[in-house]
Amino acid sequence: MNNKKIEERQSFFIRITGDFYDFASDFAVPIVVCGTPIFLVLFGLTFVCHWDIVCSLFSLVSGFSLLFIAYIISLILVIDRLLLYKVCKGRAPRYSLTVVWGIVLIGLGITLCFVTNNYKKQYKFDCAEWYVDEEKRLYHWNEKCENIGSTTYIAKGYEIRGRGLTFCDYCKDELDDYGSSYEPNRRP
Ligand SMILES: [Zn+2]
Repeated sequence: MNNKKIEERQSFFIRITGDFYDFASDFAVPIVVCGTPIFLVLFGLTFVCHWDIVCSLFSLVSGFSLLFIAYIISLILVIDRLLLYKVCKGRAPRYSLTVVWGIVLIGLGITLCFVTNNYKKQYKFDCAEWYVDEEKRLYHWNEKCENIGSTTYIAKGYEIRGRGLTFCDYCKDELDDYGSSYEPNRRP
């Protein structure tokens, strides 16, 4: 009986997605149930290790990757359904209310994409190996860079963060040309 009322309710997401809403929200629950622990485990690993494999896997499930966008859409649908069922307890909510929480959920989802995208860039920088030139206080991406001095050693990004080193201009241009995924988000 309650379910029937719910099915007849007006909701912002149901109005904009039509039949797709029920189709997608059937997939949404297993995606959220499986995706959340996977994301949290990988996110946790980024704090304790700087391995390429973790970097690659975390890149797949964060920022604007298709997997993360699918996960965020699923999360929004699951939360929307929970709000419709639990908050309204079978009574159809006012349409304007569903618009407000719909926009809030979309805003939070987009914010999560941006936040994890920035974190992903920073983590890629931390995991990447850089050629550090202590003499000139520079770090390089290309080991054959003509600006590299004689006292160069290799360090991972997290080891040189906060040490006041500057990214070599020549290497920076090269990174832009190559469109490398190791483009650092910010200077250490
Ligand atoms: Zn350089």
